Amino acid sequence: MTARLLDGNLIARQIRESVAPGVASFTAQAGRPPCLGIVLVGEDPASEIYVRNKVKAGTESGLRVDLRRLPASSSIEALLRLVEELNRSETHDGILVQAPLPATMGKSAAQSVFDAISPAKDVDGFNPQSVGLLVQGRATLAPCTPSGIIEMLDRSGIEIRGSRAVVIGRSEIVGKPMAMLLVQRDATVTICHSKTPDLPAVAREADILVAALGRAGYVTPDFVKPGATVIDVGINRVTEEEAVRRLFGRDSPRLADFAKRGSIVTGDVHPAVASVAGALTPVPGGVGPLTIAMLLKNTLSAARARAGLA
Ligand code: NDP
Repeated sequence: MTARLLDGNLIARQIRESVAPGVASFTAQAGRPPCLGIVLVGEDPASEIYVRNKVKAGTESGLRVDLRRLPASSSIEALLRLVEELNRSETHDGILVQAPLPATMGKSAAQSVFDAISPAKDVDGFNPQSVGLLVQGRATLAPCTPSGIIEMLDRSGIEIRGSRAVVIGRSEIVGKPMAMLLVQRDATVTICHSKTPDLPAVAREADILVAALGRAGYVTPDFVKPGATVIDVGINRVTEEEAVRRLFGRDSPRLADFAKRGSIVTGDVHPAVASVAGALTPVPGGVGPLTIAMLLKNTLSAARARAGLA
């Protein structure tokens, strides 16, 4: 069997097209476009790319994207002051603070930021109030990566209701909200993590397997029930040529990519899984573009709700 590839770029385009008329009518009614404030602290190269993609996608969809930069040496207090300014702004509808924050801000910095963002503008869905609403099944702004995965499953005709779903990873931003959204859609869900005994056996029970652990190629064919849908959330940069060979084989075109760039990006799912799974998301071009599309959708929802147009 060769798995059907689920094209995240195509589905993201469909989501963005479905958002465009809403952006146009909001702009006509409110006299201004929906506005997303993005805060980028420091110059982490991966974050620069993510933010550039978010600014481009937002602008192309008719949103105003206001990128605010802070130097890497900024204090957490300075960041929280900026979040407060954006909370108070009449014209900012959504606020996103790009992760990761500099280690110098301290371990609890990300949580302090999640706590500080106004729930009405919480387009990432990480504020405790947003999380509570999500758990109760009445989220208005659900986290973008897991809600994008639900959209992808729906638009690809993959039945969630009645399925067995296994989520590998229990982070606040992917694993836990993913499990919540799947259970609300009537899947029977197991959440796995680094202390789960016999992970391959648990994963093999899944009709829908979501890999969100951040380990390149960790999920091998023995984790996968034949015909299962495998969603690869991982974004891992591989910087050693031998590791690329081990993962993709000696004749893979990915080696040419590596030679050109000095690294490649790959998911948590081993390429050999394509011969066992029924459907599979590629990396890149799978879950990543959906995350951005859902961010635009959430910004429009937040703008409408704030303007009383929901
Ligand atoms: P975290 O590091 O916050 O969480 C990783 C989770 O995986 C933890 O719960 C950890 O378990 C678990 N884990 C780690 N190693 C193992 C293992 N060997 N076996 C079982 N479980 C394991 O990562 P995130 O959730 O933030 O991100 C996960 C991946 O998804 C990363 O590669 C990230 O870059 C990517 N990502 C992609 C996005 C996209 O748009 N495509 C968006 C967000 C993230 P424990 O809790 O026990 O430590």
